Amino acid sequence: MTATTPLYDTYMRAPLRFERGEGAWLIAEDGTRYLDFGAGVAVNSLGHAHPHLVEALKAQADKVWHLSNLYEIAGQESLGRRLTAVTFADKVFFTNSGAEALECAIKTARRYHFSKGHPEKFHVITFEGAFHGRTIATIAAGGQQKYIEGFGPKAPGFYQVPFGDIAAVKNAITEETAAILIEPIQGEGGIRPATKEFMQELRALCDEFGLLLILDEVQTGVGRTGKLFAHEWADIRPDIMAVAKGIGGGFPFGACLATEEAASGMVAGTHGSTYGGNPLAMAVGNAVLDVVLADGFLTHVRDVALVFRQGLASLKDRFPDVIEDIRGDGLMLGIKVKGPSADLLKEIRAEKLLAVPAGENVLRLLPPLTVTAEEAREGLARIERAAEAVRKASGNAAA
Ligand SMILES: *Cc1c(COP(=O)(O)O)cnc(C)c1O
Repeated sequence: MTATTPLYDTYMRAPLRFERGEGAWLIAEDGTRYLDFGAGVAVNSLGHAHPHLVEALKAQADKVWHLSNLYEIAGQESLGRRLTAVTFADKVFFTNSGAEALECAIKTARRYHFSKGHPEKFHVITFEGAFHGRTIATIAAGGQQKYIEGFGPKAPGFYQVPFGDIAAVKNAITEETAAILIEPIQGEGGIRPATKEFMQELRALCDEFGLLLILDEVQTGVGRTGKLFAHEWADIRPDIMAVAKGIGGGFPFGACLATEEAASGMVAGTHGSTYGGNPLAMAVGNAVLDVVLADGFLTHVRDVALVFRQGLASLKDRFPDVIEDIRGDGLMLGIKVKGPSADLLKEIRAEKLLAVPAGENVLRLLPPLTVTAEEAREGLARIERAAEAVRKASGNAAA
């Protein structure tokens, strides 16, 4: 049926080929324009071909691409300084991906307890529905059987409890617990936000039992929810945080941030990465921060998020047979679909709009943070037509 491909068959790809992008738009090889509300799964935070990012990458490309962490890298120092100035963190380690940022976070937490004379404290409590990446350790942290099966014994030291269940968390804490790891809003799991109270209770439990609170803000971070980081909505500070996706605006890199205390076990030789903090990545990362930290940027995110929120609420009211619920915060939104989400996704794509599927029959809308109110309204109109098509199709099926 499918043509043979030299690529691993691990992805079920849509038959779409894009040639270039402009802001919130992707242009296919045949010239068709798609409104991109997937943004490469929350990666293209400033849209496609943002002039400031293009300029920064080109300028760095003319100077030097790669140096190695054998030497000082000016871009790492400046980006590190800027990130620590605007967050809870004192220390940063740069990685190439989200999963690597999580690996660094987990290693940092374990090493902290080891360096305090407690090598037995290496267990990490995680949550059902979580997603933390596809490495051997992060599939164990995510706990999803379909990702773990067939890859040998599950990496030890990860214990899952129901999302939002503080009593279960407390019950799971033992003498061997090192940390609690959570996404403030589960992304792949279906845009499931943790409540402010739950986040605060986790912080309090960590303080009470001497555990480290690790946040996975790979998807929620860098302005996505209308704050620089999602945990700011809950008024708490983590000890360690993994970041990636939006921080690179499309250039692949991530970061593990930590307090001085939490990072105290990570001494010379304990961790490393050949490419991590590469000058090209740092140039783009600094350029992303120029835009995201500029006056009024996060206000724009919150304003346009309101347009989405109101529009989606109205669609939910008018299409209760298609849309069950609207979830999320800022520009990390989920449409919980009544039937299989694939039906609505198909019709949305027919309207030349891109969205991303997630767990629990949810379609994610993760538009670039630079999306305009006009583009938001255009996207909502396309979703409305798609919902009508789904309603019609199911009506026909019933008739
Ligand atoms: C995407 C994602 C990851 C994994 O990032 P990769 O860059 O694919 O390794 C981890 N955690 C969350 C919450 C994510 O959304």
